[in-house]
Amino acid sequence: MPMSPKKDKTIVIVGGGLSGLSAAYHLVKKIRGNHGTGSVILIEKERRFGGKAWTIKEDGFLVEAGPDSFITTKPFALKLCEELRLSERIIGTNPRARKVFILWKGRLRAVPHAFLSFRPDLFSVLNTDLLSWRGKWAALTAPFKHYDAPQEDVSVRDFFEKLLGKEATERIVLPLVNGIYGAAGQEVSVRWTLPTLWNLFRQPGKKTLLRLLSSALRPANRSGRSFFVTLLGGIGELVDVLAEEVAPYITIIFDSAQTLIRTDGSYELTLSSGQTITADGVILAANAWEVAALMKHLDGDLAKSLAALPYRSSLTISLAFHSAQIAQPLEGSGFLIPEAEGSFLSGCTFSSVKFPGRAPEGFHLLRCFVALGDPSATNDQQEDQIVRKALNHLAPILQIKGQPIKWWLFRWEKALPLYRVGHHLFLAEVEASLTRLTGLAFAGNWLRGIGIPDCLASGKEAADKVWGDLYPNDRT
Ligand SMILES: Cc1cc2nc3c(=O)[nH]c(=O)nc-3n(C[C@H](O)[C@H](O)[C@H](O)COP(=O)(O)OP(=O)(O)OC[C@H]3O[C@@H](n4cnc5c(N)ncnc54)[C@H](O)[C@@H]3O)c2cc1C
Repeated sequence: MPMSPKKDKTIVIVGGGLSGLSAAYHLVKKIRGNHGTGSVILIEKERRFGGKAWTIKEDGFLVEAGPDSFITTKPFALKLCEELRLSERIIGTNPRARKVFILWKGRLRAVPHAFLSFRPDLFSVLNTDLLSWRGKWAALTAPFKHYDAPQEDVSVRDFFEKLLGKEATERIVLPLVNGIYGAAGQEVSVRWTLPTLWNLFRQPGKKTLLRLLSSALRPANRSGRSFFVTLLGGIGELVDVLAEEVAPYITIIFDSAQTLIRTDGSYELTLSSGQTITADGVILAANAWEVAALMKHLDGDLAKSLAALPYRSSLTISLAFHSAQIAQPLEGSGFLIPEAEGSFLSGCTFSSVKFPGRAPEGFHLLRCFVALGDPSATNDQQEDQIVRKALNHLAPILQIKGQPIKWWLFRWEKALPLYRVGHHLFLAEVEASLTRLTGLAFAGNWLRGIGIPDCLASGKEAADKVWGDLYPNDRT
């Protein structure tokens, strides 16, 4: 029997990054399934959508300012792309670029296949010049040892040191974790940074690493995709398609949300223009420190915890060269630099090798990451000085001659949250606040994962929560 239309409710979303756009998309789906009842207003302070997901196309180069790909082992993003009819546009890493290198003692060395494939490829460990014989022995015997389920959350470093030994952890695992999660392993929680691994180890009883990994790989194998994928038009294509999907059904306001208060069961949001919006539901899809400012009048204690969540700033520099300027063969997707090397850079992606269509024929595009904690991500050092410094570090490694023909620099201040050991206590505080505040939800990379699949999933969860609060009898 068709359901009767319900009272029209207004839901406002603050933030048009991937988390906010996903919330908007899932709300629009609910509205369309609910006889068109309900309205959504999306507030975005920049003149573009996407937040950190920003693709720039210039002179034949496709430059990613933020994310360049997403992982397929968390299938939410892949499934959403399929739902958005983007299946034909999804591309995996170039099969010739599946190698990743680590700069160790000034030389690039391939990461053993075992560490990239999560398969016990013993030969790749035996043959690596990244580990001493003692380090190799620790890594080689690890898959066959029995492990107990960890009782408490620990740091990524402590977790892997116990599993694979100190050398493999410092020289291989931590640079990889830093490359993917933008976080130094000694600081971050294994439970929240690598939840799949954590959940595997939580299965009761003793088990070998080999057994754990083979069961972890089963679902990933089924998708048949490479570990990282993107879209032909870059991550910006996902932003554009999401925005196009929602635009006909919602109201979009490009302005900054300043204050949020509650009045008679409704929410009142004031924008910097002075405009006031009254809404039944609110989704805050900005960074935790931005959400903190808006939560001040609703839950002062939570606002303090949000403001105290540690963040990392990030600085990337994309450099374009004629192929002939680079003597070192680019036979992989890039390289990472362990902290012990003391470099200004933490890594470099060979963007034009990793994915097709990132540079015109005869050119290369490289993307450098400035080391975590380097002050140039936050101070006002001149951009051309930073580029020069990056090139001074990069040139001897890749044997680059001359200057880049073009460069793009992106500073992301307080971009990536750090999930410290004990992040679940912070999440419990968030949950407690949300149960008190009907019609309010959060979405973003500071909740349960920083990657694109996590952000998109957080947008859907927020849409479900607010919709459920406002329309408790609806099953859409
Ligand atoms: C350099 C870099 C590389 C990365 N690489 C990858 C990668 O390869 N793969 C991957 O999966 N992840 C990657 N990430 C992480 C991922 O990009 C982010 O976690 C994700 O894009 C965050 O999305 P979001 O919507 O939660 O937040 P954001 O992108 O920060 O969006 C928040 C939005 O809210 C708006 N906003 C904030 N305050 C207000 C306000 N008061 N009023 C109105 N609007 C407001 C902002 O303008 C912004 O548009 C990378 C991140 C960085 C910085």
